[in-house]
Amino acid sequence: MYETLAMYIDGQWSQGSTGEGEDVVNPATEAVLGRLPHASPADLDQALAAARKGFEIWRKTSAYERGRIIEKAADIMRSRADAIATVLTMEQGKPIAEAKLEVMTAADICEWYAEEGRRAYGRIIPGRVPGQRQMVIREPVGAVAAFTPWNFPAVTPMRKMAGALAAGCSIIIKASEETPGTSIAMVKCFLEAGVPAGVLNLVFGVPDKVSRHLIASPTIRKISFTGSIPVGKHLAKLAAEGMKKATMELGGHSPVVVFDDVDAIKVAEVAAAGKYRNAGQVCISPTRFYVQEGVYDKFVGRFTEVAKGLKVGNGLDADTKMGPLANKRRVDAIDGFVADAKKRGAKVAAGGERIGNQGYFYAPTVLTSVSEEARIMNEEPFGPAAPILPFKTFDEVVQRANRLEFGLAAYAFTKSATMAAAVSDALESGMVGVNHLGISLPETPFGGVKESGYGHEGGIEGLDAYLVSKFVTQIGA
Ligand code: NAD
Repeated sequence: MYETLAMYIDGQWSQGSTGEGEDVVNPATEAVLGRLPHASPADLDQALAAARKGFEIWRKTSAYERGRIIEKAADIMRSRADAIATVLTMEQGKPIAEAKLEVMTAADICEWYAEEGRRAYGRIIPGRVPGQRQMVIREPVGAVAAFTPWNFPAVTPMRKMAGALAAGCSIIIKASEETPGTSIAMVKCFLEAGVPAGVLNLVFGVPDKVSRHLIASPTIRKISFTGSIPVGKHLAKLAAEGMKKATMELGGHSPVVVFDDVDAIKVAEVAAAGKYRNAGQVCISPTRFYVQEGVYDKFVGRFTEVAKGLKVGNGLDADTKMGPLANKRRVDAIDGFVADAKKRGAKVAAGGERIGNQGYFYAPTVLTSVSEEARIMNEEPFGPAAPILPFKTFDEVVQRANRLEFGLAAYAFTKSATMAAAVSDALESGMVGVNHLGISLPETPFGGVKESGYGHEGGIEGLDAYLVSKFVTQIGA
C-alpha cells in the first residue's frame, strides 16, 4: 500500500550514490514504513545538470503543449486519489477523508495551473515613433529549487511543481523527508502524463545540506519555500547572495475575532472544525480566538463540547475525526505550550494531554484565562490547542490581533456588513476570511505579510512568481 521510496533525477528513479538515508515512520503506530535515500553532493549535481537540460527542453515546449501534459497529470492524480490518500495518511497521520480532499485539491491546483500557463500574457506599449513596437514578454525564470514541509504533503509540493511547470521552468523539489511517499506518487502522475526527463526532479536529504547546495548553484534562478519563519529567513539570505527570486510561505498565528452579534453556537462549531483540521498543523489554522464578552461563555461552551466529542485515532479508521500529530516534535511542543500557559494561570477546558503511549496522539485542547504573555499567544503552536480570550471593543481587539509579527491569515465573524468591512480593513494579514475559514483555493492568491513571508502561490500571482519580464523594442528595418 505504501510507496517504494526513491529519488527521481534526470528521468530515473535513484537510491542515491552513498547508501545514506533515514527511516520514514507512521505517526499513528510508530512503525517504519520504509527507508528513504538521501542525495549526496554528486546526486544533487546530477539533478542540477538535469534541471539545466530540462529547462532548455521545457521552455521551448509551447504553453499549449505544457498545459495539455499538466492537465493530464491532474486527471491521472484524480484517478489514483484513494491510493495516494492512503499513502498520505500512513506517513502524515491526517484522517483519510481529509487526505482524499487534499489529493483532490492538489489535482485541482494542477489543473488550474495547466490552464493559467496558457495565459502568461505580456503587453504592447505604444511606440514613440511610427513603426515602433514595444513589447513586454513574459518568460520562465529558469530552474527552480523548491522545499516543502510535512503538513500538506500533496497540496504544497503541487503548488510549486505545477506552478513552475506551467510557467515553463524546470524544478528540483526537496519534499519533506517525513512525508516522501505522496510526492513520489505525484511525480509518477507527471511522468506518465509526458513530462520529459530532467524537467521535474525529486530529491531528499539533510535539509540544510540540500538547500545550501542547490541555492548556491548558478543553475537555480528561483527559490520557493514553505515552512517556519527561522528557516525561511535563513533560505532568503542564501537566495539573496545569488540575487535569486524567492517566494517565502512562512508561519502564521491567525487571530479569529468573534463579535457578539453572531450565532455563537454555529460560529463555535465552524471555528472548532477549523482548529482541529489536520490536528491544527496548518499555517493558516485559526489560532488565537478573541470572542466579544456578550457571547464568550456560549462560544467557549460549544467549542469545548466539540473538542471533547472529536474521535481521535488512526487516520485510516473511517470514524477518526482527528489523527495523530505528524511527529514527536509536535507532541513535545504542544505539551510545552500547554504547561507554560498553565503556569501563567490558564485553565484547561478540554484535553491538555497526550493520549496513550503509542503513536503521536494529543487530545483536542481548549485553554481559557490565557495570559497574552503565554508562549502559545506569541509563538506558532502548530497543533490542536485553542486559547480562547474575551474582548470588549473593536479598537482593543484590532490592536491585540495585530500585535504579533505574523501576518498570514486572520478571520472575523459578524453579521454587520459595516463591521465586516472595518475589521477586514484593519487586520494586518495577507488573507482575511469573514464569516468562514475557506481562504485557500487554486484561483486565489495565498501568501503572507510581515514576517509570514513574501510572494504568493495560487491565483495569477502564483504563476507570476515563476515568470520574468523581458522588454523588447523594435523599429521596422
Ligand atoms: P523546522 O522549522 O526545522 O522545519 C520546517 C520545514 O522546513 C521542514 O519541512 C524542514 O524539512 C524544512 N527545513 C528545515 N531546515 C531547512 C533548510 N535549511 N533548508 C530547507 N528546508 C529546511 O521544524 P519542524 O519541526 O519541521 O516544524 C516546526 C515549525 O515549522 C512548526 O512549528 C511550524 O511553525 C513551522 N511549519 C510551518 C509550515 C507551513 O506550512 N508554513 C509547515 C511545517 C512547519
